[in-house]
Amino acid sequence: MFDPALREALANVQKPGRYTGGEPGCVYKDKEKVDLRFAFCFPDTYEVGMSFLGEKILYEILNQKENWWCERVFMPWLDMKAEMERLHIPLYALESKDPLTAFDIVGFTLQYELSYTTILAMLDLGGIPFYAKERDETWPLIVAGGPCVCNAEPLADFFDMMMLGEGEEQLPQVCAVVEQAKKEGVDKQELLRRLSRIPGCYVPSFYEVSYQPDGRIQAITPREGAPAVVHKAIIKDMNRQALPTHFIVPMIGAIHDRAQVEVLRGCVRGCRFCQAGFLYRPMRERGAEMLDKAAQDLCANTGYEEVSLHSLSTSDHSQLEQVLDRMNEWMPKEHVSISLPSLRIDNFSESLIEKTTKIRKSGLTFAPEAGTQRLRDVINKNITWEEIEKTCSMAFRDGYTSVKLYFMMGLPTETMEDIEGIAETAQKIVDLYYANPDKPKGKSVQVTISVACFVPKPHTPFQFVPQDTEESLKEKQQHLLHSVRSRKIRVNYHDSSTSFLEAVFAKGDRRLAPVMVAAYRKGCYLDSWSDCFHYDRWMETFREFGIDTAFYANRFIGLDEITPWSHLDYGVSHEFLVREYKKALEAKTTQPCNRQCSGCGANLLLGGPCFEYSKDLVQ
Ligand code: SF4
Repeated sequence: MFDPALREALANVQKPGRYTGGEPGCVYKDKEKVDLRFAFCFPDTYEVGMSFLGEKILYEILNQKENWWCERVFMPWLDMKAEMERLHIPLYALESKDPLTAFDIVGFTLQYELSYTTILAMLDLGGIPFYAKERDETWPLIVAGGPCVCNAEPLADFFDMMMLGEGEEQLPQVCAVVEQAKKEGVDKQELLRRLSRIPGCYVPSFYEVSYQPDGRIQAITPREGAPAVVHKAIIKDMNRQALPTHFIVPMIGAIHDRAQVEVLRGCVRGCRFCQAGFLYRPMRERGAEMLDKAAQDLCANTGYEEVSLHSLSTSDHSQLEQVLDRMNEWMPKEHVSISLPSLRIDNFSESLIEKTTKIRKSGLTFAPEAGTQRLRDVINKNITWEEIEKTCSMAFRDGYTSVKLYFMMGLPTETMEDIEGIAETAQKIVDLYYANPDKPKGKSVQVTISVACFVPKPHTPFQFVPQDTEESLKEKQQHLLHSVRSRKIRVNYHDSSTSFLEAVFAKGDRRLAPVMVAAYRKGCYLDSWSDCFHYDRWMETFREFGIDTAFYANRFIGLDEITPWSHLDYGVSHEFLVREYKKALEAKTTQPCNRQCSGCGANLLLGGPCFEYSKDLVQ
């Protein structure tokens, strides 16, 4: 039962289901019988966090251990935050309703930069001091994982430890060390020393950062015996890593409320803007049998009627057709549909369309990313207009009437001609639809182009480039709107000010920590929600601290410069990133990994070659 204060708060907020827990599939344990308690914190709302596959994976892994208990914590929406503050309810975990301070480890997942101050909001609501140096061993250990750890230096002063890479094996190792340290009653410094020996574990306070007079980094110096470079943790064989089969089924709509089966991890493509593509190298697949069995178990355990085959690039799975064949044997009988959220336009075949449309026909979504071939070559998006044309014609013949295309603007070397190319690509797709003699009678086509602002990210070949200025991005957005002439084309574009802040934090360093605390105090959190984003307050705070945001977002980083993330290694060598950057400037492409290895260095993580190559594929 809820205590009276919580009951009162729930009566006064919208969507109380976000805060009650008790959904089918959540795990309860006797807290007197567990030796380690882990609060898995997602720094966004329940609906966003419950869509996140990583949390489902780690929740299941940790809770399989009888004497550990992993629970969930999400950021309350504004109304609930106000009620919790009014009624003095500390931030609590959904399962036990215990406050964050009751846990041994409080772990945040860092999925995007605009969630950073939401972490501060959650610590604040939990009554936990922000700075790691203000917390001794009587406080929970505050840790972080997820892709943004690749440069979470702006948050470095807040976290006791951060985990680079994949958590399936690493997080249980961390929990075991904390459990043992708790038994022995060791102090926090000793615990941190022990944790820093686990592969991929990074203790920021063990590294001293010094700066040059012009603001660039002078040196990053390890102490306390910490390694000079921290290497990410990786699962070598995905077929030995079980898939989660007991999702918690949310009682109020999550953004992705369906069964998710991760078919592969990593990506072979090497698109030069894509951070995930480099962080998760090399690509590793799961076998068809394992995937089919996991999908069946998940549907049986949860009652979901949609299975999403999840990955960065699902159509690159070498056995995708076999996977779909197996699933098509049982899914129609069970009224279960398949969705393939990340498809490539260049390997979307007729039979793939046939195998997915057997069950449900929806719009096609593809990401050409740039409007001209030259710019697609610059970013290494190895697709041509002929491939776009072939796939769209095939889809239209098959009865599809809507296409959604994702593009970016502000890409390195971009000109107004490339912006016009976005509109021209969409127009050519509209024309293609009307050129089809068998198009459905009375139905018109809808082409939606969604244009994001490019944010240069660490650990990519574009980490060196400055972000386009806001003025330039706004000008390009206007030019695109004027270049689109058909009502069959809908244009959505992202707000350039959120992308600017994202760039500042993506390439930021430890000097940004006090700015974040001050901005949070002024009400800046849940920044990825447009009704909560206060750009003016952010800019005012940067000015107060004398921080030049352009230094982070709009400056060219020297190819040999020490970056805030130079000591964090994800397997891809610096030399490779420089090589790829130089090739980009010449609009030269690089082959996908499964056709030809380009020597990025990530194979060293596996201890052998990433792929077996047949001679006829290698060019
Ligand atoms: S080592 Fe070669 S095949 Fe492996 S991820 Fe790097 S480029 Fe791709």
